[in-house]
This record gives sequence, C-alpha cells and structure tokens, in this order.
Amino acid sequence: MNFKKNQDNTAGLATRIIHDQAYTDPWGSPDIPLYASTTFRFARTADLLEVVEGRKVGALYTRYGLNPSILALEHTLAQLETAEGALAFSSGIAALSAAFLSTGQGGVVCLGEMYGGTQTLLEKSLSPLGVPVIQLPFWNEAELVQVLRPGQWVFFETPSNPTLSIIDIAAVVDLAHRAGAKVLIDSTFATPVNQNPLALGVDLVVHSATKYLGGHSDITAGAVMGSMELLKPLAVWRQNLGSILAPVTASMLVRSLKTLIVRVERQNATAAALADSLQKNPQVQRVLYPGLPEHPGHAIARRQMRGFGGMLTLELPGGQQSASAVADQLRLFLLAPSLGGVESLVTQPCLTSHRELSAAERQRRGISEGMLRLSVGLEAVEDLLADLQQALEVVYSV
Ligand SMILES: *Cc1c(COP(=O)(O)O)cnc(C)c1O
Repeated sequence: MNFKKNQDNTAGLATRIIHDQAYTDPWGSPDIPLYASTTFRFARTADLLEVVEGRKVGALYTRYGLNPSILALEHTLAQLETAEGALAFSSGIAALSAAFLSTGQGGVVCLGEMYGGTQTLLEKSLSPLGVPVIQLPFWNEAELVQVLRPGQWVFFETPSNPTLSIIDIAAVVDLAHRAGAKVLIDSTFATPVNQNPLALGVDLVVHSATKYLGGHSDITAGAVMGSMELLKPLAVWRQNLGSILAPVTASMLVRSLKTLIVRVERQNATAAALADSLQKNPQVQRVLYPGLPEHPGHAIARRQMRGFGGMLTLELPGGQQSASAVADQLRLFLLAPSLGGVESLVTQPCLTSHRELSAAERQRRGISEGMLRLSVGLEAVEDLLADLQQALEVVYSV
C-alpha cells in the first residue's frame, strides 16, 4: 500500500480533522448531526440494491456500520492514520477480536508485553477455538525469524504497558513481510498524533478509542485502520458479532477527535516535563519514559515517534506497600485503571493489569512491585508535579 509519508501527516491533519468531512449536512450544520436511526429508507428498490450490493456507500442499517454518524467517524479515523479505510467498533477489545478472528488458521505471533485484556482474549477465547497463538515475551530477531510462517499475523504494542518498551516497527515489518506474514499493531499508547505505523509498512493499526481518541473517560470504542482489502474480513466479523458502536458514541467520538492533536501535544509536553523533574528526585528510583535519553528504547522511539506520549512509569523504593501509599496520597492523580483522559490517573501494575502473573514472572518482565503507572491529563504541570512531590514527601521523608 502507498500511504502518505509519516511526516506529512500532522500539519495538514489538524485542518482536515475539522474541515474534511465525509458529508455536507443539508441544513448547513458545521458538524454531522447524530443519526440515532437503526434503518434508512429508499425511494426505489434500485436505490436500495445499490447500497446492499456495495456499489455505493450509503446509509442502510446501523449494525452493518452503514449509518451516517458511524460513516462520518470512520472517515475521520482513516485520516488520522492516513489510511485507505477505517472500521469503528464497540470497544478496543471488539476491534482486536475481529482482527484476530480474521487471521483464522494463519495464527498470531505476539511480541513483547501486551494489554492484559488482549492476553486473556488470545489465551482464554481464541486459542481454544483453534487460532494458533505464539508468544515471544522477550522477542529478538533470531527467535522471530524462527517462528515466522506465511499467512501469520505478527502482533505487538509499542510503547507497551507498563514499562513503555519500544519495538522497532520498521524492523519487524521487514522480517514479517519477507516471511509472507502481515503485521498488526496496537498503537493505543502512542496515538496517531505521535506515531503512524502504516507509514512504516504495518498492515493494520488498532486503537482503543476508549483512551486518547475519546480522551474524556466517557466513551468505550475501538478502531482499526488500513487498506480496504484487509479491513473487509474484519467488517464481516463485526457485522456477525454485532460489535458495532452506538451512533451516539460515534458522534461523541467525532467531537473528541477535533481536539485530539491539541490534547496529545499538551499531554506529551507535560509528561516530558514531569519525567525530567522526577528523574532528578532522589525519592524516585527510576523513571521510565521513552523521551528520556536513558530509556533503553529512546533511539528507536526518536526514529519512529513524533512525540513520546503522555504515559510514564515510576519505580519507587520500598516495594508494593510504599508505592500503594504514594498512590493513596495523590490528590490530582485519580486512582483508576485507564489512561488517555483529560484527568491524570495512577495505577499500580502489580495489583491491577499484571495481577494475574506470578511474582517471578512479573520480575522476569521487569514489572516491579514498586511501580506506579501515570497517565498525564490536562491539568497544570506545576500542580501535577506538586501533587507528586507532596505524596513522595509524606511516604519517604522520615
Ligand atoms: C484499554 C486498552 C485496550 C482495550 O480497549 P477497550 O476499549 O477497553 O476494549 C487494548 N489495548 C490497549 C493498549 C489498551 O490500553
């Protein structure tokens, strides 16, 4: 596929998100109104058949995604990744389910850490159905080459949760394509503002729109972007599983996307400032942020990301209880297991997302008991820093 170059994306994107809409409203509304309708009528059978047979894109039936509010959302979602097309789903996991089910007997090769829900989906639901799943938690080039087969899909996240590890997208794409495999990436943590995997050769990109795309902790949705040809089987799964999102959610998401660039750019800047400052704080053992030169993935992140994101992870001394005490002491960072919203959040991976793993397995993966994962919101950077400093002070100064 020939997509527009990575670097060209954001400048024009800010304008296109606002002005390049799928439809013009006949009443002159600057946005696409909410069409809650479940079905759409036609003047004549011939007109209906045009849409039913796919010769014309039009409104038909909402579960199929053929609803003006959903089509308008998908038009914008495609633009975000400079993709030929996009499909919207009822959640990030619904989007991933459709993508994995479409791989069928080809199977999935997973690299590195992944979102807990994705791990559960693969292990508890897809493996028992016969979808071959190979996991390489500590992948390296030689290991990947050894397991790659034609028809497989390679799947990974970068940056990953919670260590914010970076995987070299172009390098994986090269190995996978040479072996006749395709590449699916979950780019939720990066957002389309900071990283455009399709421009690096990735075949399909998934986002949990529940996070940065929605951005206000009030939408559950998912998205997949890529070529029309590769999206087609996912659309069939979406239709058959009924995993379409509600039109009202699509409308809310279109509205959220208009401020995506502004939100993410601010979140990038605030997270970078916090990382820089906390790294100098003797009460913090280590700060994991891909924008820091000390981060093991920094060089690759600089190559494949425009910004380093709004997520950062702290390693604190004193183990699980001390880290919990800091989390409990925070006032602006809310103790809640999500990310990407306007309000800052804190989670402790060993008690939440990575609770199911044994202590030894967590250690093997570099997830310590004293880890706190921060999702930086839109509050004033001085206030967020002061909040972190007061919490550290209470717990660690004797
Ligand atoms: C939250 C999340 C998901 C799942 O998204 P839902 O919208 O909750 O289904 C998948 N991948 C990543 C990286 C996430 O953070």
